[in-house]
Amino acid sequence: MQLDILAFGPHPDDVEIGIGGTLIKHVEMGYKVGIVDLTAGESGTNGTPEIRRQEALRAAEIMGVAVRDCLQLPDARLAVSEEMLRPIIEIIRRYRPKVVLGPYSKDRHPDHVRAHQLVREAAHLAGLWKYPAAGEAHRPPVVLQYFLGGTAEPSLVVDISPYHERKMAAICAHASQFGIRAGRDIQTYVNDPDFLRSLRVRDQYMGSLIQVAYGEGIVMDEQAAIDDLMTLRGRVRHTRRREQ
Ligand SMILES: [Zn+2]
Repeated sequence: MQLDILAFGPHPDDVEIGIGGTLIKHVEMGYKVGIVDLTAGESGTNGTPEIRRQEALRAAEIMGVAVRDCLQLPDARLAVSEEMLRPIIEIIRRYRPKVVLGPYSKDRHPDHVRAHQLVREAAHLAGLWKYPAAGEAHRPPVVLQYFLGGTAEPSLVVDISPYHERKMAAICAHASQFGIRAGRDIQTYVNDPDFLRSLRVRDQYMGSLIQVAYGEGIVMDEQAAIDDLMTLRGRVRHTRRREQ
């Protein structure tokens, strides 16, 4: 199966947090979208890899993505090594996406930083014909970054206003992470209600940059190229000329 967009997340809930609304929007526009979780999230304080996989599949269903795989790399021990690059390269070659998404480079979680490096390097190496990994060479033309723990000035903002509630529903499908099950879960940074509130506020802030209710920011390191200026949208969308 060939995908238009492939989003990589270090942990099973990261993609929905950083770029869930954009993925839902592109599914709705008819594009084939997939998610690859690098780890099963086994180092998370709450939940087990089995529970987290079920939650991730439920979230994938809410978002409508075509596929969600997990590479089972070691949680909290991601490293930029040939051993960890190979499965990422192979999955890029398998799905041959036009757009690859990974986490932004600055983040306090070491896994997020390494996932950024892994995705970036794998996207390049996947295009080398003689790189020793399975599959035919494929270099995704566009590699983008979404925000997790850190935020910077975005290169692009996607209006996700109509899809924001669905994005939050996909996040909340990870009940072992964002809810506190009485007597079972330990209080953490992410199951504090302020965490979900802060995600909402960030999406509102990104939206404010383009004057919409909710947005998701994207960083693009390379120079963005555009063929059709008419597909570009600025901050002010609806300028109506006053009829005389
Ligand atoms: Zn994470």
